[in-house]
Amino acid sequence: MTAAVRASSGPPPDFRRRGHFLRKSQGAALSARLAGGEVAQPVAREPAAAEPARESCLEVMDDKPGTLSENSELLFSFGVIADIQYADLEDGYNFQGNRRRYYRHSLLHLRGAIEHWNTEGRLPCCVLQLGDIIDGYNAQYKASEKSLELVMNTFQMLKVPVHHTWGNHEFYNFSRNYLMNSKLNTKFLEDQIVHHPETVPSEDYYAYHFVPFPHFRFILLDAYDLSVLGVDQSSPKYQQCLKILREHNPNSELNSPQGLSEPQFVQFNGGFSQEQLNWLNEVLTFSDTNQEKVVIVSHLPIYPEASDSVCLAWNYRDALAVIWSHKCVVCFFAGHTHDGGYSEDPFGVHHINLEGVIETAPDSQAFGTVYVYPDKMMLKGRGRVPDRIMNYKKENASQF
Ligand SMILES: [Zn+2]
Repeated sequence: MTAAVRASSGPPPDFRRRGHFLRKSQGAALSARLAGGEVAQPVAREPAAAEPARESCLEVMDDKPGTLSENSELLFSFGVIADIQYADLEDGYNFQGNRRRYYRHSLLHLRGAIEHWNTEGRLPCCVLQLGDIIDGYNAQYKASEKSLELVMNTFQMLKVPVHHTWGNHEFYNFSRNYLMNSKLNTKFLEDQIVHHPETVPSEDYYAYHFVPFPHFRFILLDAYDLSVLGVDQSSPKYQQCLKILREHNPNSELNSPQGLSEPQFVQFNGGFSQEQLNWLNEVLTFSDTNQEKVVIVSHLPIYPEASDSVCLAWNYRDALAVIWSHKCVVCFFAGHTHDGGYSEDPFGVHHINLEGVIETAPDSQAFGTVYVYPDKMMLKGRGRVPDRIMNYKKENASQF
């Protein structure tokens, strides 16, 4: 199916549903199974340590994070926002009819977030846009380019760079080739590691890494590297991806997870190629060696306990196996779920699924700023986004 055909029928019904969460015990079993012989054993943790109580976050987090405690020198900060899904449309609802979508107001939410970031006492180093910047409905109304221009013009008001991630709605509106040549390609912001050619990403997927502050590396991943969305139907890659999808999803409607043992195998999701995972492994190896801390960004989440399982990347286990074989990763930011979610995995990686702008009422907000300290990162959420404290793994906490 070409992007044009896909677009002409509008965005697919949203079959996401709750109730697919793995229980804690299932998650632990998954962790142990994935750990295998290659990676360290999961660190035993008290359940209470996995997610700090909301009250305790609020107690210590105020609008002046530089005054937290004696061991809390603010190094830098960055903004996060997800699933803006702007369209010039009346409000609507998700597929289940239980979540209102504010298509027009999402642009005002974005404007509010930008005004906030622009007036923070210390400007964030950058903003991470976690994908689905305009809604798939734009394609149906032939408004894709106009809506994208409107949103990008709004982003131009931002005083700091923005890194754009690509989600399924990007591919409902545009082909991969179009995106590569658009303003949504922010690969020009990448940093390169001299004398380490293995850390240079391939042009076959949209991923890169950058260093906004010494010893902190951010990696932007392409969760639709394996996907039937945005790919030319005549290409071998399309056939390969369709085969993977059909092998795991016998439904005639490939956007439906009905009856699937692995409900993430739906058309509106995608996955990471082995080539991209090999590259990720090389970058993380470099970061381990150089005692860097790493933040990973992807439209699709990869940790079942932080996400509705229908929203996970196809081969989320492969991505977790790579990440868990390194000690440098602090947190993994994703969008796509709209409801948000959080869990710290057994290896101390904090998985944050940000609440989506599109399902945020006009009287609320959905964005955040992450303040980075020598021993932790602190997400100060606005509106629907809760505060989070993300302590580094013990062996990584005292390098400053
Ligand atoms: Zn999405």
